[in-house]
Amino acid sequence: MIVEMRTHATQREIDGVVERAKSLNLGVQLNLGTDKTVVAILGSNTGQLSTDVFAVLPGVERVARIMKPYKLASREFKPKDTIVSVDGVDIGGKRIVIMAGPCAVESEKQLMDAARVIKKAGASVLRGGAFKPRTSPFSFQGLEKAGLELLIKARKQTGLPVITEVVEPRAVPLVAKCADILQVGARNMQNYALLTKIGKSRHPVVLKRGFSCTVTEWLTAADYLLAEGNSQVILCERGIRTFEDSTRFSLDIGSIPVLKRFTHLPVIVDPSHAAGHYSYVPALAKAAIAAGADGLLIEVHPNPKEALVDGLQSLTPSDFSRLMRELRPVAESVGRHI
Ligand code: PEP
Ligand code: MN
Repeated sequence: MIVEMRTHATQREIDGVVERAKSLNLGVQLNLGTDKTVVAILGSNTGQLSTDVFAVLPGVERVARIMKPYKLASREFKPKDTIVSVDGVDIGGKRIVIMAGPCAVESEKQLMDAARVIKKAGASVLRGGAFKPRTSPFSFQGLEKAGLELLIKARKQTGLPVITEVVEPRAVPLVAKCADILQVGARNMQNYALLTKIGKSRHPVVLKRGFSCTVTEWLTAADYLLAEGNSQVILCERGIRTFEDSTRFSLDIGSIPVLKRFTHLPVIVDPSHAAGHYSYVPALAKAAIAAGADGLLIEVHPNPKEALVDGLQSLTPSDFSRLMRELRPVAESVGRHI
């Protein structure tokens, strides 16, 4: 951490910064310029320290962070890639993992049809929301417990592990009992009570990016899961809010190589919620794999025209099968396979 003093700050003010650093067991290195003094604060945990600790002191102009605020998610902490294994499916290895299924579990027939279709096309995890965090309280909120039971049934019939969203801390034990992977939705990325509860459960979890959050904030949220002892964390890029409104969200493809550089955690991409329209999904899915994603989370509905949620961005069974065929050479071109 670098503390820049105001021009002509007094010796007393500089001493104040040094004393505060010492009281926190941190080292200091003084850089005395002609007009300005800069104090470097040294210590292994300065990334986790609030800059306010120094910014509030008299004579301080600015405090800049050098260390990242996240720690456990960082590559410095763990240089080797994390592979999350779920029921024989490795996420973060050479093979690209495709998770697919409807936005929401709507009925037994809808879910079973979707499960069969995605399995046949080569997907290895079934998605389906039982609890839906909808923008409006008047929209379909999911089948809840009945939806979880249908997911268990679909897993039994197809052998596919299932991923479903959990929206509140109290529901974590129940959802963890029913699903192989928990999903934290974009709207809950910074719901720290939920993250702490999921961290304690040590259940595999997909942490979606909040749509107005930076990569640094996202990795700091991942630290909440890791700090509780849950090492089975997968990140999911799903697009962010920008001024552009021709897609539902702007898919931040650039975050994939950035994450690969700064974190050891596997990264998957949800092209469906970014696109908002089925016709854009294949291109975004291919771009994600080309950029280094370890997997995809795609919405597929047996009959999107009848979908209760997100029908416009859902692929039909035949569109999904075609996309799976088209993804294979893209994966091979970057040294991966599906
Ligand atoms: C979802 O995947 O069902 C979902 C609601 O996505 P997001 O949290 O990314 O909006
Ligand atoms: Mn959806």
